[in-house]
Amino acid sequence: MVKKFENKIWLSSPTMHSDELKYVTEAYETNWMSTVGKNIDEVESSICNKVGCKHAVALSAGTAALHMAVKLAGVKSGDYVFCSDMTFGATVNPVVYEGGIPVFIDSEYESWNMDPVALEKAFEIYPDVKAVVIVHLYGTPCKIDEIKAICDKYNAVIIEDAAESLGATYKGKQTGGFGNYNAVSFNGNKIITGSSGGMLLTDDLEAANKVRKWSTQARENAPWYQHEEVGYNYRMSNVIAGVVRGQIPYLEEHIAQKKAIYHRYQEGFKDLPVKMNPILDDCEPNYWLSCMIIDKEAMCKQVRGEKEVLYISETGKSCPTEILEILAKYNVEGRPIWKPMHMQPIYRMNPFITRDGNGRARSNAYIEGESLDIGADIFERGLCLPSDNKMTEEQQNIIIEIIKGCFE
Ligand SMILES: *Cc1c(COP(=O)(O)O)cnc(C)c1O
Repeated sequence: MVKKFENKIWLSSPTMHSDELKYVTEAYETNWMSTVGKNIDEVESSICNKVGCKHAVALSAGTAALHMAVKLAGVKSGDYVFCSDMTFGATVNPVVYEGGIPVFIDSEYESWNMDPVALEKAFEIYPDVKAVVIVHLYGTPCKIDEIKAICDKYNAVIIEDAAESLGATYKGKQTGGFGNYNAVSFNGNKIITGSSGGMLLTDDLEAANKVRKWSTQARENAPWYQHEEVGYNYRMSNVIAGVVRGQIPYLEEHIAQKKAIYHRYQEGFKDLPVKMNPILDDCEPNYWLSCMIIDKEAMCKQVRGEKEVLYISETGKSCPTEILEILAKYNVEGRPIWKPMHMQPIYRMNPFITRDGNGRARSNAYIEGESLDIGADIFERGLCLPSDNKMTEEQQNIIIEIIKGCFE
């Protein structure tokens, strides 16, 4: 009988290395305690170097960076914007801040990200759409080349949400450098953290300068506070930047640890009726979160309401709810797959496009075995596994045994 872990095993928690404190102290001792300073400059230039983009603007959050990206893309009230569907709400909410209407594009099984086939269908239905927001979910790159080709054909701008994928590469090139306007996040649970914070990345100097202005209250060059545009208080603090600065040298180490975690799960589950979250050829994820999906035949009955869930335990089968409940009993944190946006009450009326081009009309008629709604299916059968880089191999082996037990 396995004992409950004394210290909780987290999904993904901050991992500090002590350099962070050095740079925070430096900010304190030199009194650069505001939104200007050496830590900010250093962080902007090192992320530029890492990602291979020309300009970076450090902001208070990844969400703020996405908001600035949506503004740069010129999204106006009533404009439709194509968005990844299976993602965190922060990918799409900034579209709404600007009055835009997210149109959700279904996911594909090959990468769990935006399905280029569904995107093409969406452009056939809405050829005038001018912006597409793509995400690399859980640190795994999407089909960038295919998506880019379609966006080029329709003259649409790409906003790349690389909040979860810093350090991941697609055909050898870093994510965060593919879109016209890109966002990364330094939130507490990401691959590296500032405790909070984010960054806008672009190759367009004029765009970067606009964001520098908008994010510091859109002050004009005048002796007094002069305003011609709406401003925001979105700049990163030099104290937060100190934490980020201390973390950047450890990005590759964190990725290596997370990769080892993914492969241990993969090996540990090889005899179970489950699969790990998929990775496209030519991609190297940052392995931020390890996830799994249960084979259809091995799912016990699970019924999800809007806020509650029930399942019926069955020998030889399991479901995400059962696994998460049992993990919690052992003081281990997992999480359901991010619930797709088209299933969220707030976005229930928004268009949703599947690969047959007819998602929203048919998503209520979910057909088992030949699902048209791939996002709903992955949400139903998938879960995020504890992926904390401080979890030891020994602890992970215990967790693997616990999960195996769910299928007995
Ligand atoms: C975390 C996250 C964000 C938002 O970043 P914050 O820094 O928390 O505002 C946006 N998109 C995705 C996919 C995320 O995981």
